[in-house]
Amino acid sequence: MTTPVESALVTPPTPIVPTSRIPDRATPGHVKMRAAGLRVSYGNRVAVRDVDLEIPANAVTSFIGPSGCGKSTILRCFDRMNDLIPGARITGEVVLNGEDIYDSGVLPVEVRRRVGLVFQRPNPFPMTIYDNVAYGPRRHGVKDRARLDEIVEGSIKRAALWDEVKDDYRKKSGLALSGGQQQRLCIARTLATEPDVILMDEPASALDPISTLKIEELIEELRQRYTIVIVTHNMQQASRVSQMTAFFSLGEDRAGYLVEYADTAQIFTNPRQQLTEDYVSGRFG
Ligand code: ADP
Ligand code: MG
Repeated sequence: MTTPVESALVTPPTPIVPTSRIPDRATPGHVKMRAAGLRVSYGNRVAVRDVDLEIPANAVTSFIGPSGCGKSTILRCFDRMNDLIPGARITGEVVLNGEDIYDSGVLPVEVRRRVGLVFQRPNPFPMTIYDNVAYGPRRHGVKDRARLDEIVEGSIKRAALWDEVKDDYRKKSGLALSGGQQQRLCIARTLATEPDVILMDEPASALDPISTLKIEELIEELRQRYTIVIVTHNMQQASRVSQMTAFFSLGEDRAGYLVEYADTAQIFTNPRQQLTEDYVSGRFG
C-alpha cells in the first residue's frame, strides 16, 4: 500500500520546464534552507505553527519530538510534498539557497529534484535496480546511454550499495533486495537527480541494527556533499549522526511548535529549555 505522497512519486512524468529561479548552490557552511513563520494546517486544524529554523549546508540536522508534533509535516514542506495532500495549507516562508520555494515562479518538480525525500519504509519501484536509479534522470530528460550508466553507477556507489549489487544490478529487481539494501537503493535513486538537500523521515526505523548502522555511516559520508535533515525517534541516533538538533513539541492547542534548536551536543547535554531536558532524559514522549 502506498500513501498519496508516495504514489505521486510514481505518477507519469511531468514535462520538465527549465525554470530555475533557485540558485544552484549556497556557499558551504552557510544557511542552505530556512523556514520563517511556517505554519501548516490540515483542514481547519493547525498541525504546526511559528516555525523559524535555519538548516546549515553540509551538515546533518535532526528533528526530534513526540509523535504528532509535526516533524514529517515540516519535512514535507521542505520539498513541497504537502502540495499533494488535499486540505493542507502552508503559510510562511521556506527558502532554499536564498529563494522562496513557494514563490509562484518556482515549480514544485524543480524543488523536488533539488530536495530529495527518503521515506521510513523503503519503497523501491517494481523494476530493476538500474531502472530504479535511472528513473529520475530519465524523467528529467537524460537519454544518453553512457551518461545514464555513469549516473546510475555513481549513485549506487555513493549510496554504499555497489559492492553488494555490482554483478546483477541491471537484471535484479529492487524488490529482491533486503530492507537495508532497499533503503540504500532509495537513497541512490534520490542521489541520481543530483539534489542539494536530502530529507530522511525515520529512514532506519524499519531496519535491523546492522542495516541501521550502515545507513548512519552513509549519512555521515553524504554530508560532505549534501545537506541532510533527518527525522528520528531514536535519540541515540540523533546524537550519533547530527550536528544540529531541533526539538519540537505539542502546544496546549495541540499544534506542534519548535521548542529548541541548537548544536546536538547542547540539546543532549545542556539544553536551555526544561521541556527539552525532560524529553531527552526520557521523562516524557
Ligand atoms: P510527526 O511526524 O511528528 O509524528 P506529523 O507531521 O505526521 O507528525 O503530524 C502532525 C499532525 O498533523 C498530526 O496531528 C497528524 O494527525 C496531522 N496530519 C499529518 N498528516 C496529515 C494529513 N495528510 N491529513 C490530515 N492530518 C494530518
Ligand atoms: Mg512522522
